[in-house]
Amino acid sequence: MQDDGRPAAPLDVFERLESGVRSYIRAFPAVFASARGHTVWDVGGRSYIDFFSGAGALNYGHNHPRLKGELMDYIARDGIAHSLDMGTAAKAEFLEAFQQLVLEPRGLEYRIMFPGPTGTNAVESALKLARKATGRHLVVGFTGAFHGMTLGALSASGNRFKRRGAAVPLTGAVSMPYDGYFGPGVDTVDCLRRYLEDDGSGLPLPAAVIYETVQGEGGLHSARDQWVRRLAEVCRRHGVLLIADDIQVGCGRTGPFFSFESAGVRPDIVCLSKSISGYGLPMALTLVRPDIDVLSPGEHNGTFRGNNLAFVTAAAALRAFWSGDGLQREVQSKAARIRAGLARCAAGVPELRPEIRGRGLIQGLALGEPGRAERVCRAAFERGLILETSGARSDVVKLLPPLTIDPAALDRGLDILGEAVGACAAA
Ligand SMILES: *Cc1c(COP(=O)(O)O)cnc(C)c1O
Repeated sequence: MQDDGRPAAPLDVFERLESGVRSYIRAFPAVFASARGHTVWDVGGRSYIDFFSGAGALNYGHNHPRLKGELMDYIARDGIAHSLDMGTAAKAEFLEAFQQLVLEPRGLEYRIMFPGPTGTNAVESALKLARKATGRHLVVGFTGAFHGMTLGALSASGNRFKRRGAAVPLTGAVSMPYDGYFGPGVDTVDCLRRYLEDDGSGLPLPAAVIYETVQGEGGLHSARDQWVRRLAEVCRRHGVLLIADDIQVGCGRTGPFFSFESAGVRPDIVCLSKSISGYGLPMALTLVRPDIDVLSPGEHNGTFRGNNLAFVTAAAALRAFWSGDGLQREVQSKAARIRAGLARCAAGVPELRPEIRGRGLIQGLALGEPGRAERVCRAAFERGLILETSGARSDVVKLLPPLTIDPAALDRGLDILGEAVGACAAA
């Protein structure tokens, strides 16, 4: 959609040559060329405000100048790019920075595992570790969960459509009700607790429970701190390991570096990916309590576990954003701004009975009827705002702006969203 008479961007090459599995291009029919901060430009020169941030892989925006500078210096001096899991100066620097800026200040003790460069790799390695450490096989996931597209991660995920895509039985995991599943009056941890206590429940003692603080793909349901604390307590009492999947909501998305900090729990294993490189480069971590770091050398291997370009930007991002609590406070004030903006959007369309969900800089509007959120996102895109839906029925409009977005751009995006919601309510 060009408003200045230039020809539409050439999308036909993707239709002719690329697999039908491509998905985001269908929601955002443009050919993108460059980006900086919260702004993305397509090949026709049209600009968009990015409220999607690579599904949470770009918490510090696109091509942050400080990260880019360090990356370009590293490449220019022939810094090693690929190294399997050999020792490199870039990896050493990252490990020290992560220890000093993230783990130590929070009193957290974890071994840092490099599981392969994607989120689902981190989840697979976490499940493998938990199973080996406990000698048990079953993993408990939750309704609405999303942990990745490989078989182990998918088996602990909720989405029926994505599970069907596996085309084989997904075994080794069961689903329990997430916080709020039966409404506000029911504490669903009681369900897990009762199953674990009851010898007749039919539930074998699990190796681990895996959970998300906010279900980024599962409709932005979020777990109350109190629920997370009870979950951790029940797990501890039964010797079940607690795995926090902080792939989408870690790295400051909810405010603190880890989303579980507000609950005050210490998961046994933590999965990080998406924004850990800070630059959108593939990288993932599995953080492991030292006494359950039980995999033998090479027992979980992979060619691309040493993405040194990602280590360089990851260390730079930690130094730039996590030396103090400035970013965390920024996220809190922007979160309030988003909540107010969403309340305005909601007030404009009371007949849709919109529900505001999420926390921090992962919030959204549930619009009930499936299809409406997709129409809102499309209308927003036509007006120059990139944002996606969430939920098994794609019924939630999800806002995931860069944490570093300036307040004026945040307001502009919220205004566009308000127009798009209004346009779709009228339609
Ligand atoms: C994106 C995501 C994953 C999977 O990460 P990939 O890099 O896409 O494999 C797992 N868990 C959560 C919560 C995610 O948001």
